[in-house]
Amino acid sequence: IKKSGILEMLTVREKLEDIGGLGKLKPWLQQKSLVLSNWPEARAFGVEPPKGVMIVGMPGCGKSLTAKATAALFNLPLLKLDMGSLMGKYVGESEGNMRRAIQVAEAVSPCVLWVDEVEKAFVGIGSGGEGSEVATRLFGYFLTWMQDKTKQVFVIATANDISALPPELLRKGRFDEIFYVDFPTETERVEIFRVHLERRNRLSAQIQLEELAQKTQGYSGADIEAVVKEAIEKAFVQNCATLDNARLLRVINNTHPLREVMKKKVQ
Ligand code: ATP
Repeated sequence: IKKSGILEMLTVREKLEDIGGLGKLKPWLQQKSLVLSNWPEARAFGVEPPKGVMIVGMPGCGKSLTAKATAALFNLPLLKLDMGSLMGKYVGESEGNMRRAIQVAEAVSPCVLWVDEVEKAFVGIGSGGEGSEVATRLFGYFLTWMQDKTKQVFVIATANDISALPPELLRKGRFDEIFYVDFPTETERVEIFRVHLERRNRLSAQIQLEELAQKTQGYSGADIEAVVKEAIEKAFVQNCATLDNARLLRVINNTHPLREVMKKKVQ
């Protein structure tokens, strides 16, 4: 399953500070990190073992980034289980693959298991159609494992579409918490611009983060990163020594956030 790309071990460099916004999720993860790094004392104190978190929301708004930053924060290896490819192969093999993936995660534990596109595993449950039985069994297996797991495997499940998730998965007790990640607010966009400019050493006093944030309503974190990258590249090819605010604004004027592009496609 490692060779097939269903399960891979990732090396991560992302840090919690690389995430702009997500003001509830970040402190929650910091709390879990304290619990995990002092586990014997926490358990003796009566703290429940952390199970994991579900992060649902818009594409490009930081779900994958959070999964990676969490593993780095917890100082644990990160295994990524790609549900899209697990289900995309022969249906009959998906059950065995799921079991094997979980076995690997337990063998590697303590670790973080990031289950990407978790909704893909449960498509067609109860529909009676082809694959419905397999999906139902997979679902049952996954739920039982989540409920009863004894090994230290912290699960981060990410999904784009909450309506595709069976309600049982969202019931308390499976995950410690569910977070919904939406498009960033203006204040969050200020932070995201800052993160991406600082990371590239291109933040200067002349740059008006608030103005950039005002002009980028509807942009995701990924859209903002794209603006920063494009502006830096333009400044470079035009031999400018610095990146100025006007250039960033010009790039914003000439681009559209992914959400608008997607709307146009649907029409
Ligand atoms: P998808 O559902 O398409 O996989 P996602 O929510 O997992 O999307 P990410 O892969 O985390 O999105 O985001 C893509 C890139 O956009 C990130 O690597 C990061 O550079 C940037 N980005 C997204 N959200 C944020 C954020 N909140 N703060 C800083 N950067 C962000």
